[in-house]
Amino acid sequence: MSAVAARSERETVVLEGIGAVQVVRSRRARRITLSVRTSGEVRLTLPYGISRERALSFAATKRPWVEAARRRIEQRCAAVPALPPEEERRRIEEMRRAARSDLPERVERLARRFGFVYGRVSIRASRTKWGSCTSTNNLSLSLYLMALPEHLRDYVIVHELCHTVHHDHSPRFHALVDRCLEGRERELDRELKRYMIRR
Ligand SMILES: [Zn+2]
Repeated sequence: MSAVAARSERETVVLEGIGAVQVVRSRRARRITLSVRTSGEVRLTLPYGISRERALSFAATKRPWVEAARRRIEQRCAAVPALPPEEERRRIEEMRRAARSDLPERVERLARRFGFVYGRVSIRASRTKWGSCTSTNNLSLSLYLMALPEHLRDYVIVHELCHTVHHDHSPRFHALVDRCLEGRERELDRELKRYMIRR
């Protein structure tokens, strides 16, 4: 069984101890590479001009590496356990109640302190954004803000309130945010990036 010709660009081969391996021939590939995707699926990429037999025997020697990579992926996934739907719903309802009693007041307090004028505040179960500000200066805040320490909650709200003055992320906008936060915008932004809304 020999190499290149008549072989499809993509095929699935089962290797002992590894399982299904997706073999992909790529014009961009410069060498043989093996990767494990988050689904656990293994992909073997090889350039034209290298026989699939050679690529497959390369993959076969990488079995311990594949096992270790799969273990790493599993551990990473295990670190963010998904709650059962019922519990997840209860938790969201709890946070929503907490958000309703905390966030509108917090916005009012911060707006008064810095002299911002805004419209309505709505609270959503947004998993993609901590907050946003419409062109008519209504604020929308994620109830997941309640999972943040208070100073980061304030940071997000100040950011959105500054959008009532500048509806963009221009240097003028950031200068305003930074002034309100006494020069700590970058530091707080870095800190906020350490948190993510769990899916
Ligand atoms: Zn913004």
